Order: sequence, then C-alpha cells, then structure tokens
Amino acid sequence: MAEYILAKENGRNIPQEDKIFGISNRAKKAIAEKGAGRVINATIGSLLDDNGELVVLSSVAAVFKQLSPKDYADYAPIGGIASFKEAVQKSAFGAHRPDGFVEAVATPGGTGSLRNVISNYSVFGDKVLTSDWHWAPYNTIAGELGRSVDTFEFFTAQRTFNAAAFHAKVSQLLDVQESLVVILNTPAHNPTGYSLTLSDWDQVVDALCGAAKCGKAIALVIDAAYIDFAGDEEEYRRFLPKLSKLPENVLPIMAYSLSKTFTLYGTRCGAMICIAKTKAIADEFRRVCEYSSRGSWSNSAKVAQVILSKIYSDPELLGKVGKERAHYRDMLLARSRAFEEEARLVGLETVPFDAGFFLSIPCDNPDEISAKLEQQDVFIVPLAKGLRVSVASISEEKCRRLPALIKAAMA
Ligand code: PLP
Repeated sequence: MAEYILAKENGRNIPQEDKIFGISNRAKKAIAEKGAGRVINATIGSLLDDNGELVVLSSVAAVFKQLSPKDYADYAPIGGIASFKEAVQKSAFGAHRPDGFVEAVATPGGTGSLRNVISNYSVFGDKVLTSDWHWAPYNTIAGELGRSVDTFEFFTAQRTFNAAAFHAKVSQLLDVQESLVVILNTPAHNPTGYSLTLSDWDQVVDALCGAAKCGKAIALVIDAAYIDFAGDEEEYRRFLPKLSKLPENVLPIMAYSLSKTFTLYGTRCGAMICIAKTKAIADEFRRVCEYSSRGSWSNSAKVAQVILSKIYSDPELLGKVGKERAHYRDMLLARSRAFEEEARLVGLETVPFDAGFFLSIPCDNPDEISAKLEQQDVFIVPLAKGLRVSVASISEEKCRRLPALIKAAMA
C-alpha cells in the first residue's frame, strides 16, 4: 500500500508502478539487450507488424500530411466540429444505424466517452456493471469519479455468454441504487476476444427491458474500441438495430474510438454517440456531456476530427482506408487462428474467443506463471483471473510458438 505524503488518496489505491507498463519496460529492455527475435513481447495493446513496428494506415497518414496548420493548431468546438459529428456516426454505425434520436459528442478516445458516461449517468458511490474479465482502466475511471466497478460472470461452464448472471446482477444493483451504468465491451472484447452473438444481444436487450420496468435510469455503454478488427465490418454491426427496442429509460451509448480503427491512437479522438428514444433525452445527453468535457479536458484535439471528416467526404479515399485496414485485420485474424490451433494441439485452455487484439488463458496463479515466462524472455500480462496475450503485437510465427511455452510454464 502506497504511503501518501502530500497527495490525497480519496479512496483510491494507486500502485507504485502500473503493472502492464512495468512488464512492457522489462520486455523492451530484453529486446534491447538480446534482439527482437529472441524475445516475445505479447503485452502491447497496439497493432504491430511482424517486425514489431507500429502499423499506421498509409492512407490515413497521407491525409495527415496534407493538413493545413489550422486543421491541427486551432481549437475545435467542445462537442466536436460539425463534419466530424456526422462522419463519426457513419463510421460507428455503418449500414446499421439504429432508429432513435442520435447525438455525437467528441471525446479524447473511447476513454473520454467512458469517463463522461460514468460522470453523468451514475451518482457518487454507485457501482458500474461490467463483465468479470474486463479492461482494468474501467476501475480507474470509476474510482476517479467516486464510483466503483461490480462484475457479472461473463461465461457459463458451457463457454457461452452468461445471460442469467448478467440479468441477476442488473436486478441486484437496481434494487439498491437509483441509476445503473452497464459497460459491454464488444465485439472483440479486451482481454478475451469474445464478441456477443446476435442471440446474446437478444438476451441483453430482454434483460434490460425487464429491469427497466422499475423506472430507474440505465445507461448501456457499448465499448466498441475494437469493432473494426473483429471481422466483416457490416456483419459485426448487425446487433445495432436491436438497441432501438430498449425503452425510454435505457440509454444506449456507443463509445467509439479512432485509436485502432484509423490507427490514430495518439491523436486522442473518439466520440460518445447516444441513441435516445426522445429528443429531450438526446439533447440532455449532448448538454451534460459537453459540460463534463469542459470541466475535464475542455476541447478534444481537432486534428483527427478533420482527418475523419476528409475521409468521409471522399468515397475513393474511404474505400482505400477500408481496404488497407482489411489487410491488417486479416493479418491479425491469421495470428489468432495460429495461436488457437496450437493451443488445441498442446491442450492449452483459452477463454471463449472470437477475434481481436487479445486472448486470455484462465489460470489460478497468473503472477507466478508470467514471472516464469519472463525468465525465458516471454512477456504476457497477468490479470486477476488469468493471462492476457496480445496477438496484435507478435508475429504469426511467435503466435504458433507461444501456446506450448505457456502450457509448459503451467505444468
Ligand atoms: N476500451 C477498451 C476495452 C480498450 O482496450 C481501449 C484501449 O485500449 C479503450 C476502450 C479506449 O482506447 P482509446 O481511449 O485510445 O480510444
């Protein structure tokens, strides 16, 4: 437990070192000393090519290079520039725009959207609900705002989405609090790679329709950070029209990010997009979220907003970006298939996986196993319930080698 000298703890537990950055730094050191070929660094959450270099879509980079100083130096309006607000809806919804009153507010990445939802759709002390396997910063964001995270069991013993556990936890929390924020990270969930199926979505919608009868406010966040790396971009948006079935007091909000989809991680751009049943709810959404933005980061950076606007105003360029992304998505999918094939061969169990940057291996002693693997220059991330492997950051050849190494370390 850290000793506070001048800073205030305020109910948070701030570690001396971020665990993932710590491992990642040790991996980088090993690479510097021994060479990239001798080290497996499966800790990084960005898409890297087979040489360990960051993948940047050249079609997107070309737009960047043609920008004028005003495109990147000027302030954007708090809620985002108008052309971005339009373009980002097209990008988020594709051909599956749900019915409803839609408003988009620019945010610094998906992270900003998550922060603004929690700040505006829950109250101090509330529990925010997500799956037991989840992206750790949800806890940090909730904690910064005086909330905490509660979880439901993501999978049944039959390796399917645990709709009963979801339903039970939603009801339990609504019994004791006046509002509820639910975060579902799908498709291509971090850290498991699971994508909710259309029938999983039917169960989620049914559960929320039932729970909403109490009349309390529910915000359903679809954290779609990896949506464009799951597989066919339209196929993976087919769940969206189902959101229109939700009643007035359940507000679906898509946390959309340009980080992965357009390889613009560092430009910090995303949007929170609501699909409301009434204009009043949509207008309120825009008002409260813009207010929160003003009080946290103020304006979001303009540069990626302009880039997205330019991409969506030029069909040929949009096609080029889509084609280039598909190439890298295929590379990523080939890596995860290679990992899965080898895992089956060596008898290594994985958590139900569909697609994406990561997959997970359940185990009881993740810290011990990852420390053992580090001794062989294999770096993966220990989580509460297992180990996370980033197939986004290692070659297909390393993906093939890794399952046997993990299996041996677990023996
Ligand atoms: N949600 C999940 C599950 C993520 O893994 C990430 C990024 O790693 C994000 C949201 C948000 O990323 P960004 O703020 O860069 O859009």
